[in-house]
Amino acid sequence: MTAAVSGPRPGPGPAPRGPLSGKAIVESQFERAANLINLEPYMRRILMRPFREVQVEVPVRMDDGRIEVFTGYRIQHNGARGPCKGGIRYHPDADHDEVLGLAAIMTWKTALMDIPFGGAKGGVTVDPKRLSRLELERLTRRFTQRISIVLGPYRDIPAPDVNTNAQVMAWILDEYSNRHGYTPAAVTGKPVSLGGSLGRDEATGRGVMYVMMEYARDFGVPLAGSRVVIQGFGNVGGHLARLLHAEAGAKVIAVSDLHGGVVREDGLDIPGLLAHTAAGRPVPEWPGGRAITNTELWTIPCEWLVPAALGGVISKETNARTLDCKVLVEAANQPTTPTADLILEERGIPVIPDFLANAGGVTVSYYEWSQNLQQYRWTHEQVNRELRATITRAYAAVRDLAQARGVPWRTAAYAIALERVAEAERLRGN
Ligand code: NAD
Repeated sequence: MTAAVSGPRPGPGPAPRGPLSGKAIVESQFERAANLINLEPYMRRILMRPFREVQVEVPVRMDDGRIEVFTGYRIQHNGARGPCKGGIRYHPDADHDEVLGLAAIMTWKTALMDIPFGGAKGGVTVDPKRLSRLELERLTRRFTQRISIVLGPYRDIPAPDVNTNAQVMAWILDEYSNRHGYTPAAVTGKPVSLGGSLGRDEATGRGVMYVMMEYARDFGVPLAGSRVVIQGFGNVGGHLARLLHAEAGAKVIAVSDLHGGVVREDGLDIPGLLAHTAAGRPVPEWPGGRAITNTELWTIPCEWLVPAALGGVISKETNARTLDCKVLVEAANQPTTPTADLILEERGIPVIPDFLANAGGVTVSYYEWSQNLQQYRWTHEQVNRELRATITRAYAAVRDLAQARGVPWRTAAYAIALERVAEAERLRGN
């Protein structure tokens, strides 16, 4: 296992995990959808298991001269429909099962969006808040060296995830290009000046908003003036709050980060709060609302509740019976455990599943990859237009199947994705 990172920059402890691992959550959801489409036993086995797993030990020289060794993973779940695609996260809880579960979700997400990728995920078991910038760069470069044999623009393309960003992607690009020649399509979520796409930064939050807009229109829960509560104020939660505030007229009444949250019944001043957190200050210290704990956040009555932080945060043991929302929108990956899912179903609270709601990021990653291969740059408007069309198509397919078969949206989304990947597997002759 990874040596614990010790040093003079203690960060906050890891977030509590749900009672089920990411892998267990995915397996249980998979079964339900596989039964719905009568998937053959051999195909269940192929689609349940990863195509390839790489685990590496990553030695990093720390600023004080010591060498620390971290464990890293790159798991390629399925590549039947195209090169594997998925983020890399740095987190103390990132382990084999979590990365495998997230890799599988990427397979279903790319299939549901009907973009020509498979699914992968990477992770390093590390608390990056305890690393200096130089240590983070050395970790990224060494990790990339160790996994670069399985990467490539037609093989497996990383992207940012929790605690990784455009700068980390730039280091991965540099490290990969040092070995293979300048290859911008080898990684997405890059800075725009290195071939990144306009609109990639906000794409996941924007995609969540587009899905909410469709749902609002179809099911009579108007977004304008409605109350939204968001857990997490990072890339996804921050952009989503900004866009809902600026483009949808919604009232974002509460948000939180690792340290706690802030609530204001008549709507938070989101641009002000974003400026506050951009200066490195915690959300609960924002003076424009009442500070709340992370547990209190789940009790606030609202129309839209959006987990946009880590997995396993909505569970039978914690909050599934008491959430007070009209719709739950999963912007985070795997925020709801399977037992919580059943409770929400009993309670009549619809759940818009993660791999539909948060697919905007990988969709614009696809546009970034395409632009790199074509050596052609799209405008921001073009990116947003294509994103809206793609995610709306996927939304409509899920809505229609869920209604036709009387199943939860998650089961419908899985069924569509499983069928597409299974078809590719059959056609390729596995
Ligand atoms: P991020 O690191 O930018 O932000 C995470 C946010 O969650 C931060 O505000 C952090 O303080 C907060 N947080 C962490 N632990 C918390 C806790 N216990 N309670 C409350 N808040 C907590 O990460 P991100 O990129 O915004 O990703 C968030 C989620 O969305 C993850 O589940 C990720 O897998 C998923 N996701 C991200 C993208 C993307 O493009 N970034 C795409 C799809 C899915």
